[in-house]
Amino acid sequence: MSGNCLFCKIVRGEIPCRKVYEDDDVLAFHDINPVAPVHFMLVPKQHVVSLLEADESHAALLGKMMLLASRLAKEQGLENGFRTVINSGKGGGQEVFHLHVHVIGGGNIPPMVKRS
Ligand code: 5GP
Ligand code: ZN
Repeated sequence: MSGNCLFCKIVRGEIPCRKVYEDDDVLAFHDINPVAPVHFMLVPKQHVVSLLEADESHAALLGKMMLLASRLAKEQGLENGFRTVINSGKGGGQEVFHLHVHVIGGGNIPPMVKRS
């Protein structure tokens, strides 16, 4: 837990969220500013800054989050497919420095990288 971290505050219930799923290790909740009809995030309850800081000790947790992302996406109606995004560090455009997996889908999802 990190005192000033926004997602730790959400995990602790100090800031409300629209919860999608919760267990002992993981919380999933809808993004406050969605980029698609379905846009939620999975976060570890443990404070991990980003994938840059993740190591072998997080392997099982990360694997669990990947499988949960797929299960929850389908439960949210994304049986046809979805996008996962993990922004890591300033160089990856991360804004909230508590590791999270975005799950995005519904509507028209364009190719992620436009090539000219
Ligand atoms: P990042 O850019 O770090 O990958 O993503 C951070 C995400 O957190 C953004 O998509 C942003 O909309 C979302 N976000 C920021 N503040 C809050 C909040 O207070 N509640 C929720 N549910 N999402 C938030
Ligand atoms: Zn945190």
